Amino acid sequence: TIGMVAIDQHGDIAAGTSTNGAKYKIPGRIGDSPIPGSGAYADNDVGGAAATGDGDVMLRFLPSFLTVEEMRRGSSPTDAAKTAVARIASHYPDFMGAVVALKNDGEYGAACHGINTFPYVVYDKKHSSYQIVNVSCS
Ligand code: ASP
Repeated sequence: TIGMVAIDQHGDIAAGTSTNGAKYKIPGRIGDSPIPGSGAYADNDVGGAAATGDGDVMLRFLPSFLTVEEMRRGSSPTDAAKTAVARIASHYPDFMGAVVALKNDGEYGAACHGINTFPYVVYDKKHSSYQIVNVSCS
């Protein structure tokens, strides 16, 4: 899955995903990526989030929605993503996945589970080019 969260010059926030789904998926499988609140979610008042990983598990927990709601309650993007990932891991310790989060003030972060590191790409006005950020999943 390619998940993206973006803020435009007017402060409007968008989040979305593009995915080929899971390997060996059954015909008709939809997965988590196109489900609002699971694959991605955005609210101009708060920020946005996008998720990747074991979609059949993750979509039960709406991790992108939970991440945005945690930021609404004052969490940083990193802590909000950690809360969403930990919620899934508490029920499915073997799941693999990650959540990226962006707040409407430009702060961003991510959390992951079931792999060693999760790389994501950031482009913002502060940098003249993109930057790859590696998150430790432990
Ligand atoms: N979440 C996607 C799915 O389960 C797979 C992925 O993130 O690569 O369909």
